[in-house]
Amino acid sequence: MQAVAIGLFCFTAIYLIVDPFTQMAAIYLCFGSIVTVAGRNYGSPRMVSVFTSAFLLPVGVGLALRGDIPHILLGLIMVPFYLIVVTTAAQVRQVLFSAVTGHRQARQIAQRFDRALNTMPHGLVMLDSTGRIAVANAEAAHIVAARSPDNLIGRSLKSLMMRGIAAGLLDAGECDFAEAQLATALREGRDRKLFLNFRDGRHLELSSRAGGDELGVVIFEDVTARVETEEKVRFMASFDGLTGLANRAFFHETVTKILATGERQRLCGLAVFDLDDFKTINDTLGHPVGDGVIYAVAERLNAFADEDVIVSRFGGDEFMVFFNNVTSEYAFKSHLEQIFAALQEDVDIAGNMLRIQCSAGAVLALASEIDVDQIAVKADLALYRAKDGGKAGWRLFEASMDAAFRSRQIMKADLRSAVEARSLRVVYQPIISMESMRISSCEALCRWDHPELGPISPAVFIPLAEEMGIISQISAFVVAQACIECVKWPEQISVSVNLSAKDFRNRAILDKICDALASTGLAPHRLEIEVTETALLDDKAATRMLLDELKDLGVRIALDDFGTGYSSLSYLHTLPLDKVKIDRSFLLDVTRSQRSLEFLKGIVNLSRPLGLSVTIEGVETFEQLKILAREVKPDLAQGFLFGAALTASGIDTMSNTVWPFATEIRRVDHAARH
Ligand code: C2E
Ligand code: MG
Ligand code: MG
Repeated sequence: MQAVAIGLFCFTAIYLIVDPFTQMAAIYLCFGSIVTVAGRNYGSPRMVSVFTSAFLLPVGVGLALRGDIPHILLGLIMVPFYLIVVTTAAQVRQVLFSAVTGHRQARQIAQRFDRALNTMPHGLVMLDSTGRIAVANAEAAHIVAARSPDNLIGRSLKSLMMRGIAAGLLDAGECDFAEAQLATALREGRDRKLFLNFRDGRHLELSSRAGGDELGVVIFEDVTARVETEEKVRFMASFDGLTGLANRAFFHETVTKILATGERQRLCGLAVFDLDDFKTINDTLGHPVGDGVIYAVAERLNAFADEDVIVSRFGGDEFMVFFNNVTSEYAFKSHLEQIFAALQEDVDIAGNMLRIQCSAGAVLALASEIDVDQIAVKADLALYRAKDGGKAGWRLFEASMDAAFRSRQIMKADLRSAVEARSLRVVYQPIISMESMRISSCEALCRWDHPELGPISPAVFIPLAEEMGIISQISAFVVAQACIECVKWPEQISVSVNLSAKDFRNRAILDKICDALASTGLAPHRLEIEVTETALLDDKAATRMLLDELKDLGVRIALDDFGTGYSSLSYLHTLPLDKVKIDRSFLLDVTRSQRSLEFLKGIVNLSRPLGLSVTIEGVETFEQLKILAREVKPDLAQGFLFGAALTASGIDTMSNTVWPFATEIRRVDHAARH
C-alpha cells in the first residue's frame, strides 16, 4: 500500500501535475524508500519485487508517457535499477542465510567432534603454540584425575605432571625427561612416543603428533595390560618357570654383557653343577619330588647370587654359575667349596628326606679370553671328569681334558665312518653247557679295528655310539651277522646278541630282528637277546611291550650282567625272561669269599624254579669252574677259560669239541652228588 501510494504520487508529479518541486520531492521520497527495501525485505524475494515494482513502475510509466526522448530514456533506467535492488536483496539474503546455516553446521560438527573425542579410549590433549592445553577429552581428564576436560584447558603438560608428582604417583626425574622430550618433539615437528610409569603399577604411553604451526596433539594410552603381558613374556623368555633363575639364553646374554665391560685382564669363572642320579629320584619318587629337588638346589645356589655371581638353570638338572672378578684361583676354589658344601645338605621334600648330591665342573679364565659357549664346553668337560671320578665332587678344567675331548670327537667321527662303511666285525664267544662241556651257544660281540689306534673295546665305542644315536645301526648289523652265521652252525648251537637300552626306545629294532630271521631262515629259538637292567629301567612299559613281542616271535631273552645294576629281583619274575647271566664280578673272589659263593648259589636256586636258566660269565680259571660245578651248578658258563671270542668259522670248528677238563668236572659233580 505504501509503495503503491508513493508510486502513484510520483506518477502524478511526473505526468499529471508537472511541477518541478513536486517532482523532486516525489522522486526523493520514492528512491529514499527503495533503499530500505533490500534491508527490510531481503527475507522474501517476492516481497522485494512487489515493493520495487510498485515504486518504480509508476515512475517509469510516467516518464515514458511524457513522450520526449530524455524522459523516455530516464524511464528506461528504471529497469536496471529494479534489477539492482532485487539482486542486492538476494545477495544480502544469501549472505545471512549461509551465515546462519554455517553456524548451525559448525555447531553440529563441534558436537560430533566432542562426542568422538570423549568416547575415545585414549586420552587426548591439543596444545596451542604456547604449549598450553586448548582441547582435552574426557579420558585425558580421567587419567590425570581432573573433574572435567574443561579443568585442563589452559594448563601446560608440565603442570599436569606436577599434579602426578605431588600425588606421589610419578617420579619427578622421569616426568622432567618425558616433558622435555615431548616439548622438543612438538617444537621440531617430530612424532614421538614415550612411557610414563606410575608408582601404582600403571603404565602410560604418551605419543605426540606434531601439528607444525597448528596445534600439537598428545595422546595418552593406558598400556598397563600390554606392558604386563610383555613383561610376562619377557620373563618367560628369560627365566626358568620352575626356579625363577635366568635361563640359558638370558644367562648367555647377561654374561656376554658383563664380559664386554670392565678390566679385560681380570679373572672370571664358570661352574656347571649337575645333580647325580637325578633320574632315579624322578623315576622312584615321581616328578613332583624331582621338581622339589631342583627348586631346593636353585634356592641354595641363588643364595650365593650377587652382582658378581650370576646363577642360571641350564635345563634339566644342570645349573650354570658365572663368577665375575675372581681374585685368585685359590679364592675361586674356596668359593666353589662353600657352594658345594651348601648343596650337600639334606632337604625335606614332601616328607622325603633327601640328600642332594651333585657334581660340578669349573673353569677359570681371563675375561679377555672368554667366549661363553667355549668355556661352557670346558666346564662340561670338567663336569664329565668329576662324574667319572665317582660323582659328588667337582673338578677344575685342565688343558688335558680338552685334548681328551678332542680325541673323543675324532673317535666319534671315525666310528661313524666305520659304521657307514660296515667295517665293524662280529666275533663269537663260546658259552659252554656245564652238563656236556660243549658249546651250547655263543655271544656275538662287536669289534672295531681303528686304522690307527688298533682294536677299540666295545666298552669304549658302544657308549660313544649310544651318545651319537647310531647304536641301533650297530645292533641291527650285529643281529643280521649273527643270524647269517648261526644258520651255518650245527643245530644245537644258538647265538645271543646284546641290545642297548637305546634300542628299546622305538620299534625299529623289532623289524630288524624279524628281517634278519626271515632272510636267513634261522629258527627264532636259536636267537637270544641280551638286555641289561639299565635298558629295563629306562621306560618300563615300552621296553616290556617290546620284550613281549620278541618273546611272541619265539626269540629268547636273557638278563645280562645281573647283579651289577639295580638287581631288582622283581625283574626275574615279572619279565618274560628265559635266562639270567650273572656278572663276572661275582666270580672274581668266589674261590676266597663264601659270600660271593652264597650269592651265586642263591641266584641259581632262585632262578631255577622260575624256569630261568643261569649263565655265569667270566670263568677264567679251572678253580672257579670246579667250584661252580660242585656248589653253584649253573646251566652254562662263559669265560676265557673256554676261550675268548672267535670268528664265526672258529665256532663251527669248535662246535663238537668237548672241553678236556670235562671228565674231571663230571667227577667233581659226581662227588658233590654223593
Ligand atoms: P657283555 O655283554 O657282558 O659281554 C661279555 C664281555 O666280557 C665281553 O667283553 C667279553 O670279551 C668279556 N669276557 C668274556 N669272558 C671273560 C672272562 O673270562 N674274563 C674277562 N675279564 N672278560 C670276559 P667285550 O667284548 O669287551 O664287550 C664288553 C661289553 O660291550 C659287553 O659286555 C656288552 O655289554 C658290550 N657289547 C659288546 N658287543 C656289543 C654289541 O654288539 N652291542 C651292544 N649293545 N653291546 C655290545
Ligand atoms: Mg652280553
Ligand atoms: Mg655280560
